[in-house]
Amino acid sequence: MTHIPPTQEAVDYLLLTPGPLSTTASVRAAMLQDSCTWDADYNLGVVEPIRRELVRLATSPEFANDYSAVLLQGSGSYVVESVLGSALGADDCVLIVNNGAYGARMVEMAQCLGLNHRVLDCGETARPEVQDLEELLIRHPEISHLAMVHCETTTGMLNPLEQVASLCQRHGIRLILDAMSSFGGIPFDIGQLGVEFLISSANKCIQGVPGFGFVIARRAALAACAGKARSVSLDLHAQWQTMEQQGGKWRFTSPTHTVLAFAQALRELDEEGGVSARYQRYQENQHTLVAGMQALGFEPLLPKEWQSPIITAFYSPTHPDYRFVDFYQRLKAQGFVIYPGKVSKADCFRIGNIGNVTPQQIQQLLAAIQQASYWLEANA
Ligand SMILES: *Cc1c(COP(=O)(O)O)cnc(C)c1O
Repeated sequence: MTHIPPTQEAVDYLLLTPGPLSTTASVRAAMLQDSCTWDADYNLGVVEPIRRELVRLATSPEFANDYSAVLLQGSGSYVVESVLGSALGADDCVLIVNNGAYGARMVEMAQCLGLNHRVLDCGETARPEVQDLEELLIRHPEISHLAMVHCETTTGMLNPLEQVASLCQRHGIRLILDAMSSFGGIPFDIGQLGVEFLISSANKCIQGVPGFGFVIARRAALAACAGKARSVSLDLHAQWQTMEQQGGKWRFTSPTHTVLAFAQALRELDEEGGVSARYQRYQENQHTLVAGMQALGFEPLLPKEWQSPIITAFYSPTHPDYRFVDFYQRLKAQGFVIYPGKVSKADCFRIGNIGNVTPQQIQQLLAAIQQASYWLEANA
C-alpha cells in the first residue's frame, strides 16, 4: 500500500516568486497531451519552431543566422553548468562577476569543474564597475571569457549589460550571460551586444512550467564546444548536434509536456505584444508594488536605478514581533505566495513581479499585506 497522500484539491495561489511562477490556465492545459519523442509532430512541429522563435526573440533579423538555440533538460542551473563545462577549453579562463547567489553558483561550478577562473566579488548589494573589470582583463591576459548574471534574482539587481558587453567587444572577450530571470521580460538584442551564450529557462519570463532550460548561442561558439564537455549528459555540443541533425530531437528523454506548455507560453507572449509589452506590464507591476509598499512603511533594498522589474527585495520590518513565516502564512491564507530573502548581510523578503500577474493583482496583494502586517499597532 502506498503512503503517498492524495493530491490536495488545487488552490490557485498567486505565486509572486521568481519561478516557478503563476502560469495561465491555457499554458497548463497545453500539457494534457502525450507526445512521442521520435515523432515529427513533436520534433518538427513543436521543438523546431520553439528553437527558431527563441532566436527571433533574442536578436534582430540581421544577426539571426549567426545564432542557434539548444534546449536542455533540467532547471536553469543545469544549463549554466552545461555552458561553462562545454565552452571553456583547458587553456581558457573565465572571469566571473559575483554579486549574488547566482554569480556565486557559477563560481562554485567553475571550482567543481576545475575551470581556470577569476572572480570579481562585488558584494551582494553593489554592481560591477566596468573599470574594475577592465583592470582585471589587462592584468590577466589569459582571461578569454566573462560570465555574468543579467538580473541577479538574489536582490533584483540589474547588472550593467550594455557596458559589460561593450567592454567584452573591445577586448575580444567571449560573453556568457545568465539571463535566466530577464530573457523574455526585458528587451535586449544579443547580436547587437555580441553575447556568445545566453542562458535562460522555461519557467521564468516566458511564463512556462519548469523542466528545461535553453541556450541561445553563436553557431560558431557552439561548434567550438566540440569535445570539451566535462559531463556526458550536460554536453552542450552533443545536444545541439542532435537537435540540428535530427530535426529537433533531444538526445535523452525530452520533457514533452513541459515543452508543449512552453510552445503555448511563447504564443501567449506574442499575443501579449512581445517582449516590450511584457516588460511594460512587469514595470507597472513593480512600480505599483514599490509605491504601495512604501506607503505601508516598507523600504526596498536597492536604489531605484539598479532595480529590475523582475523581483524586489524589501527590508524586513524591525518590529520585535515580526517573523517571516507568520507573515508568509497570513499572506498565503489570502492566496498570495511571496519569497524569503536570499541576501546574507541584510534581513529581507522578496516579492516577484513576473508571471501571469497584473497590476490589479498587485493592488490586491498590497491590501493583503496591510491585513497580514500583524505587528502594526493598527492591526493589534
Ligand atoms: C532561476 C535562476 C537560475 C537557475 O536556478 P534554478 O533553480 O536552477 O532554476 C540561475 N540564475 C538566475 C539569475 C536565476 O534567476
